[in-house]
Amino acid sequence: MEYVDYHVHSNNSFDGKFKIIDMCKRAATLGIAEICFTEHFSIDPKDVSYNVLNYYKYSEEINAAREKLKDKIIIKKGLEIGEPYILKKNLEDEVKKMNLDFIIGSIHNINSLKLRLSMRNKDKKYVYSDYFDEILKMVGNSDIDIVGHLDLIKRYAYDLYGNYKFNDYKEILEEILEKVIVNNIGIEVNTSGFRNKVGETYPSMDILKLYKNLGGKIITIGSDSHDLDNIGNNYFTVTKMLNEIGFKYIYKYEKRKKTAIKIES
Ligand SMILES: [Zn+2]
Ligand SMILES: [Zn+2]
Repeated sequence: MEYVDYHVHSNNSFDGKFKIIDMCKRAATLGIAEICFTEHFSIDPKDVSYNVLNYYKYSEEINAAREKLKDKIIIKKGLEIGEPYILKKNLEDEVKKMNLDFIIGSIHNINSLKLRLSMRNKDKKYVYSDYFDEILKMVGNSDIDIVGHLDLIKRYAYDLYGNYKFNDYKEILEEILEKVIVNNIGIEVNTSGFRNKVGETYPSMDILKLYKNLGGKIITIGSDSHDLDNIGNNYFTVTKMLNEIGFKYIYKYEKRKKTAIKIES
């Protein structure tokens, strides 16, 4: 089936190291048909991404890579916006000026504090529930296509508290997913969790099953690669997982309109 990666960061993100062209070349070598850059973006002055992205430069680099690799790979231009409900009106004005294919909404901070720091002196219960509360806030009030790494907090909580039990948070997760469905957005399966201690996707299989049971259909797959080695990472592991759960399609985007890709086992 068509091999795509809908979550990668180049050096246009504060934490990316590699040039767009080099990442695209690497992706093409791996047999990836389509790659979507999702550079970090925030208009919260307290966020690490504030004022980092030069949209003009980003766009030029995407155009140059498209031209150079036009027979080899399709390249999409997206953003990963942190806490997209903060300064919403200003954010929308900024985003309107850009010509984007795809937007991921993610929670990286709580009250403008990085997740790792926001957890300090909190009980396990609140570490997880505070994070899910932010996700709930986001899905009800943001102009995004997809929810990024829906249970990412487990990555930071893992050392102190271990992974969470799905049943302890089922209620709020159900509320989140119902809002996702009603608002016609989707969720991402982020494979970067396979590369750290949690050893599983963000979100977990349990969340994906719940999403399916509630009637959810819109899913993208992304590696969240910030380097050359992890582009396209574990894509087929995930398509197999999704197929087993009963999903028939994943999605790709152009100018924020989605198209289905059939999952083939
Ligand atoms: Zn993220
Ligand atoms: Zn990311």
